[in-house]
Amino acid sequence: MYLKKALKNLMAEFDNEVKLPSKFYQYLEDIKKSHKLVIKSKDGYFCENCDKRFTKQKVYEKYGAKFVKCPYCKKWLITKTNRKKHFSQTDNFCIIENFKGYIIFRLFSVRTFYTFPHCYDTDYCEYGRQIYKYTNTLELIEEVYNENVNSTLNGRYITYQYFMNSNWKAIYNRYYGFGDEFKLYPYNLKKVFKNTKWQYCQIWNFAKHIDIFGYFGYFNINGYLSIDVELLVKNKLYIMANSLINNYFIIKIDNKFLYKNIKFVKKHHLDIDEYLFFEKFKIENIRLIRNYAQYLNNFTKTFFDLKIDLEKADREILNIKNNLIDYLDYLEICKSLEYNMKDKRILYPHKDIVEEHDRVNDLFIVYQNKKINKSIKNRYLQIKNNIYKNKKYIIFPVKSQSQLINESSQQNNCVKTYAERIANGVCDIYFMRLLSEPKKSLVTVEVRNNKVVQQRTKFNEATTKEQQKFLELWERKILNMKG
Ligand SMILES: [Zn+2]
Repeated sequence: MYLKKALKNLMAEFDNEVKLPSKFYQYLEDIKKSHKLVIKSKDGYFCENCDKRFTKQKVYEKYGAKFVKCPYCKKWLITKTNRKKHFSQTDNFCIIENFKGYIIFRLFSVRTFYTFPHCYDTDYCEYGRQIYKYTNTLELIEEVYNENVNSTLNGRYITYQYFMNSNWKAIYNRYYGFGDEFKLYPYNLKKVFKNTKWQYCQIWNFAKHIDIFGYFGYFNINGYLSIDVELLVKNKLYIMANSLINNYFIIKIDNKFLYKNIKFVKKHHLDIDEYLFFEKFKIENIRLIRNYAQYLNNFTKTFFDLKIDLEKADREILNIKNNLIDYLDYLEICKSLEYNMKDKRILYPHKDIVEEHDRVNDLFIVYQNKKINKSIKNRYLQIKNNIYKNKKYIIFPVKSQSQLINESSQQNNCVKTYAERIANGVCDIYFMRLLSEPKKSLVTVEVRNNKVVQQRTKFNEATTKEQQKFLELWERKILNMKG
């Protein structure tokens, strides 16, 4: 799509007046270096960045690739075996400029082709721009791309035809924009954001430590963050800040607690989950934090309600991590069984927790059945006057859970699940039967608010006209008289 004249002029002025920032080529070289591989052969590893050999090294997987850290140049590089003949890597990065009231994101792409052995070929270009009006926030005016981008029905790809190209076109559909996650060129940022709302935002330090991140999150454009990321970055808590801006939920942090414990948080590089866990349980035990942080949402409420001592639970109930679900369930069941939840022997059972869980669960089923049976019986006493008959049929309310189970097995339907609903007063179940065969199931009737809402026969077939008439009469004569 063609660019509006004002924007076209703006881009032309920009291209005339704005030079590449001073460390552009150094930055580019760094990216090229990061595209070097560590080649693995039967002799060990060879770092193609610093031409050194080394053996044994731990391999880490990230973004679906295998990385090792070269012990000599200390770089994290992708490792490939010497059987790999071709490989390519691409990095997109962004240079932000502040120009005539606009914040302009210049998008660059760097692609390196590797060919065995030792051959690296790198292309790079500027392919797009995001033009924002700087008001009190960043307001996207337009996203544009140039002749380095080939736009087809299947999507866009970068051709690296020109280093730079000034033939800008607007992206027709915002859904197909370039997004907000790039590597960020850090060296000019302090200057760019001078005299703006973000002049103390520290993004220049953050960009040096975190490879790729979403700047919308960083600037809190969507207002998800309850804490300024800059506060974390000022304190060099880059990992925590990064996990915070990658989170799409509103996270509240107790700033006072954070400040008080910042040494511990820094020392262990806590991410946001780990920090929140630490803040909640206030245990300076890094092993516990690492083990349990990910389950925070599952068990916090139960543990707090019952004042469970996590360290004690961890120590005494072996392998609580693996058995956490059983343990939580165990506690909930004990609560339902109305046990004394202040009794330490109940809170920390000195037995295998899985067995203990199964034991109380069996008790609970019996307990629950008793409770349901009692409710069904009480309900029966309340509505037994609704029993009605004519010369052929009789209809009467269900009296017990076993009657329900019997009915459902005769009818091949699912009335069994109605037990709880009757017990909770959601509905009533009646059995309609032939006077001549009162033990044999015929029609199961569900009643809500004195109205028949469902009638089922065997295999859920329709009732006959005669049966229907009987039910209507019953509803009118008996049920409605009460309503
Ligand atoms: Zn190296």
